[in-house]
Amino acid sequence: MADARGYRAFRENVRRDFRRTCAYCLLEEIWAAGLENFEIDHFRPKSLFPRLENSYYNLYWACHVCNRLKRNHWPLPELAEQGYMFVDLCESTFEEHFALLETGEWQAKTKAAEYTLDLLRLNRPHLVALRLLLAELH
Ligand SMILES: [Zn+2]
Repeated sequence: MADARGYRAFRENVRRDFRRTCAYCLLEEIWAAGLENFEIDHFRPKSLFPRLENSYYNLYWACHVCNRLKRNHWPLPELAEQGYMFVDLCESTFEEHFALLETGEWQAKTKAAEYTLDLLRLNRPHLVALRLLLAELH
């Protein structure tokens, strides 16, 4: 890529394609401390997949907390073969992997959902409280 900024040059495109929503906890920027709290995530970590560092389809929009928890995590091949991997909502739907409980918590339906819920702590108290609040608003 000619652009010296590398993947950072795609920031606005990634943001738009993800509709200003975290690819993991699914909170929109407005509910998650705004744009300043969001960043580009490498779905496949760039430390493990350096050739994908500037690959557009590896760039996801994520809130800071999800991105920080995800860090360089990636399942070992043995785990991935059993289905333990990050849920990729660009490739599948929320409903395939999760159930939204009345408590505001997400329940895993698949091994990928279990893996993702656990690593990214997707039932963080703040997320659960916001889901309940948003449900009340709608
Ligand atoms: Zn998030």
